[in-house]
Amino acid sequence: MHLMPAPVNTPPPLGTSERSGRTTVTCGTLLDGAGGEPLEGATLVIDADRIVDLLVPGQAIPSADRHVDLRHAFVLPGLVDAHMHFLGVPSNEEYHRLHVEPESIRALRAAVEAQRMLLAGVTSARCLGSSIGPALARAVREGVLAGPRIVAAGKFICATDGTWDHTHLPLEMVREQGIVADGAEGVRAMVRQRMREGATVIKLGLSKAAVGDTYHAWGDDPFAQVVCYSADEVKAAVEEAHAHGVKVSAHCIGSRAVRLALVTGVDVIEHGYAIDEETRQLVLQHDALLVSTLSQLHFHVESAVSFGYPTWLGEVFARHWEAMQADFERSVKAGVRYALGTDLVGLPTHPLDRAPHELSLAVGLGMTPSQAIHAGTLVAAEALGWQDHLGSIEVGKLADVIAVPRDPTIDIGALQHVLFVMQGGRIHVTP
Ligand SMILES: [Zn+2]
Repeated sequence: MHLMPAPVNTPPPLGTSERSGRTTVTCGTLLDGAGGEPLEGATLVIDADRIVDLLVPGQAIPSADRHVDLRHAFVLPGLVDAHMHFLGVPSNEEYHRLHVEPESIRALRAAVEAQRMLLAGVTSARCLGSSIGPALARAVREGVLAGPRIVAAGKFICATDGTWDHTHLPLEMVREQGIVADGAEGVRAMVRQRMREGATVIKLGLSKAAVGDTYHAWGDDPFAQVVCYSADEVKAAVEEAHAHGVKVSAHCIGSRAVRLALVTGVDVIEHGYAIDEETRQLVLQHDALLVSTLSQLHFHVESAVSFGYPTWLGEVFARHWEAMQADFERSVKAGVRYALGTDLVGLPTHPLDRAPHELSLAVGLGMTPSQAIHAGTLVAAEALGWQDHLGSIEVGKLADVIAVPRDPTIDIGALQHVLFVMQGGRIHVTP
């Protein structure tokens, strides 16, 4: 089957009235996110929403409508969360509440968290599964809601008894949610439905069952996850999504699911842990892009006692966390390309504004701080398809800029204390 290549998309302009005019920003140290050497005393020139010039010390600074003095700070691109969910249901009971909570209250809760994410320095995010994602993305685009620029999958797509059909709810009730699709034509039709609902990426579930599942499709071995789609079904989804100009991301835990994604043209592999060495080599050969999602399990393990998780559930999370940490370390060492994404789902256990913590987890597991910054900015932007427009501080790119008080290449935790946030030339956090 001939598969059209995945396109690179342009982020739509944000509908704000305050981004006209010229802004200059003088930096202490500039870290461009693209892997360049740190630059001392540079000045960014921003026209409306884009960076139009990058001046070194000694060059004349043009007159501007506003000037920002960040000479005491470390300046870098806005952070990009390549995998999260605007679910708007309490995170400790997400799966069942998702099916019964009205979308109106879910959207309001998620909107508040979207604002907090932006204020925490996350200027773009990819919502990989939630019916309210496309509407939130639109609200941000229209300028009625301050939040990250959003690439949204809309609802998940999985097979009957597949990735997100793991609850004990009646099948008809799950079908009504519009997440279950079987057969190449069924999957194709569901992709079209997502497009009609405003999706800008497609999220497929390739491995069966969630981490907190009660019947463990993989028994006691997280390496033996069952694959729930055929290659023909996945190829149909990829072909249909690419024809519509959007990428496909696939939930893959275990070797079988990762291999299925590699041979079917899936654009981005989510999670990608619990894999054997042979599969890791295949990932490298395909130059595949994986998304880290360390925060999800980390915060579950942290919350298990304080939120009173049942013992069995705490144990499942702990076992997956072990496998995920080991694989992340091995894969980073082997040179696997990672975009950083949190898989955070919201309050109370997984607050979306804790996204910058993902970089600290990545550094704790073998990335250098510079690698983590690159993976959490430009590489994450690549996962969104927006790498030509944001993710680094370069002339021509959108002015998504943050600043922190300490050197994040020495202390990556500094990213959890932003003192300046600009998105598309508009200032949301003032130093
Ligand atoms: Zn997720």
